[in-house]
Formats: sequence, structure tokens, C-alpha cells
Amino acid sequence: MCKEITDPKRIVIKVGTTTLIYPNGNINLASIDELAFVLTDLQNQGKEVILVSSGAIGVGLNQLQLSQRPFSIPEQQAVAAVGQAELMDIYNQRFQVYSQQTAQILLTRDIVEYPESRNNVINTLEELLRMGIIPIINENDTVAVDELDHLTKFGDNDRLSTIVSELTRAELLIMLSDIDGFYSDNPLKNKQAKLHRRITKIDDELMKQAGGSNNQFGTGGMSSKLKAAKRVLDVNGSMVLANGKRPKIIFDILKGAEVGTLFKGESF
Ligand code: ADP
Repeated sequence: MCKEITDPKRIVIKVGTTTLIYPNGNINLASIDELAFVLTDLQNQGKEVILVSSGAIGVGLNQLQLSQRPFSIPEQQAVAAVGQAELMDIYNQRFQVYSQQTAQILLTRDIVEYPESRNNVINTLEELLRMGIIPIINENDTVAVDELDHLTKFGDNDRLSTIVSELTRAELLIMLSDIDGFYSDNPLKNKQAKLHRRITKIDDELMKQAGGSNNQFGTGGMSSKLKAAKRVLDVNGSMVLANGKRPKIIFDILKGAEVGTLFKGESF
């Protein structure tokens, strides 16, 4: 197994809402606590860790005791604004148990378009990492818009996590989802679906195997994860997609164990 997987200096970890929220809408404290433990331990080992976290709307719904996602964009933005503050509160509490400082970074796509903005973000992230702080990144839902002449949305956090990996030149991107990896078909619909252990190239045939999300909180489904993986492969990076039900799986990945789906070019 190559050094980028078993001994990366800098790692971006992306968690989906399904890792943070139970299907009944309540907060999965066990999972968040384990995540704080694992990321702090990696930091203690001398690695640099960046967390890209979804979950603002899920946590906001729980906080406001709403049973379903509101329909209008302003309502969703309001719920996300409530949820983002609460989510950071929960992260801060859990990380504090392990004496690990975190920081919140909210981004819009401007960081891709405008060099000044991009440099500011890179400088802030580099300084936080130098200070031994774990940045926790999410899209700035209040500001992001999706218009032809002014596109500031990333679309989804799978995309955002690849952009963060590129900006910070992270050696490894680990995506934690509610499924063991990328299958030949959606395993929730097709029991015969087989887990892909290693993907070196993403072509149309593979894209056809990726379906949408089955979860009320999920957004991109597998197709947005594959598009993200393609971008990682295009810049010769490494990505592992694995099940976030047990965040300690990150230790297994770094030990080179056969878990999840590894996206890595032919070169090793
Ligand atoms: P997250 O919230 O972690 O981003 P999503 O719900 O967006 O997760 O995406 C994961 C879901 O994608 C799985 O639970 C599964 O139902 C669905 N899916 C569709 N096609 C596939 C596939 N080929 N392999 C694995 N999962 C798939």
C-alpha cells in the first residue's frame, strides 16, 4: 500500500449527514464523539487533519423540532443557520474532551473563481494547521446562490471536499458515508450488487452504476461521490470512500486494511 494511504501527512475527512444524524432525526452523539477521538488522535500522531462536515440542516431540524425539511430556500437557509451553530457547539464540546481546538470555516464557490479569496482561505487554513487546530468546513448556506451569472454554490459537500483537498494539497481524502463503499449498483435496491475495492479510472460505465441518495438527509448520492472521485483521480490524488457508522474505520484505512473503495490511479 502506498505512503499516501498509510502515512499521509495531511488528510481531509468528509462526513455526510448520515454519520451525524440517526434515521429518526436525532443527533448521533456516539458517532460524533468517536470522530472527535479519532481526529484528535491523528493530530496527536503529528498528522494535519481537516474536517468537511455536512449536517447543518439535519441538526437544525432537530433543534427546531421540525419533522421534515422545509420546502422554500429561505426556510432551508434559516434552518441551516440554526443547525450550523448547534453543530459547531456539539463538535466543540466533543473535541474539548480530548483537549483539541477546532475552528469553523464557511465557504462559497468564490474561492474557486477569485484568486484573492482563494489565497485568503489557503492562508487561514495553513495557519490553523500550523497552530495544531482542526478546521471544520461547511458551505456558507446563507450566502451561496445558484444563478447563471453568479454561481457561488459548490453544489454538494462531496465537491467542496475535493476543492479543499486541492487547495491544501492534502495527500488523502476520506469520505465517510452510510454505505461500505461504491457498489456495482445501489445495494439497497439490488442485493446482488458487488463492492468495488479499487477504482483506478472513472468512465461512463461506472458512472451508470452510481445512483442517487436513499436517505432523507442525503444530498448527492453516489453520483456526486463518483464525480468527486474523478476530480481526485484527475490530479493524481487518493480517495477512500468508507462507512462512517464507526469512525474508527479511519484507523483501519490508514493501516492499509481492505475497507471501503480506494480511488487511486494505476501508478502504484
Ligand atoms: P451522504 O449523506 O453520506 O453524502 P448519500 O445518501 O448522499 O450519503 O449517498 C449514499 C447513498 O448512495 C447510499 O446510502 C446508497 O443508497 C446510494 N447509492 C446509490 N448508488 C449506489 C452505489 N452504486 N453504491 C453505493 N451506494 C449507492
